[in-house]
Amino acid sequence: MKRMLTTMTMTALMVSGFATTGIEKVEAATTYKVKVMADGLRVRTGPSTAYKAVGTVNKGKTYKYLGVSGSWTKISYSGSSRYVASKYVKKYKVTTTTATKASSSFSRPTSGPITQGYGAASGVYGYTFHNGIDIGAATGTPVYASAAGKVITSRNYGAYGNYVMMTHTINGLAYTTVYAHLNSRSVYAGQTIAKGAKIGTVGATGNAFGAHLHFELHRGSYVYSASSAASSINPLNYFN
Ligand SMILES: [Zn+2]
Repeated sequence: MKRMLTTMTMTALMVSGFATTGIEKVEAATTYKVKVMADGLRVRTGPSTAYKAVGTVNKGKTYKYLGVSGSWTKISYSGSSRYVASKYVKKYKVTTTTATKASSSFSRPTSGPITQGYGAASGVYGYTFHNGIDIGAATGTPVYASAAGKVITSRNYGAYGNYVMMTHTINGLAYTTVYAHLNSRSVYAGQTIAKGAKIGTVGATGNAFGAHLHFELHRGSYVYSASSAASSINPLNYFN
């Protein structure tokens, strides 16, 4: 995009967005393990020396912690619940986190070289942060939906010229994509579109010098700023 949107455009665009969290899901699970602190520690079938020893373990080995019984610690040993004397083991916490990422869920909306990347910009065109990427392509080159989703805007307005805005839900997270400066639009607000379906063609409408696709990816709803990322994220990190 070659110029910041007018305040009026901004208001209209923000109203057309929708509320969402926009935060990646991170699931944390805490479990406990024990570390053996002495060599030749007996592993028994029950919590006393009266029980049969089924093996010995050495210093440094770790086992899943299952609980305590008196002065004995219950561990998972060769797939069974066994006991070792608590004074020779040390219990510790293990936290595992699983982040749900949406990478590889978006595809490039058109073919062509990146003529302007995402991020800090000179300000010569009226913005100091480029909230999307520019893909250079000839007028008429097909533009495809980057992911399956719903069209929320399809119109010719302001600096974006002919543009399409779509919302997507991927792994339970909401995203918004913007396809700007289009020569033609072939979808309507309210339509549900498959990933890769044609939504229009590359053009130079709005504030664009030369044909290119200005593509934005936002986490959650569309929030624009001429001087910061606002809700935008770098599409290049999300393409498969
Ligand atoms: Zn641009």
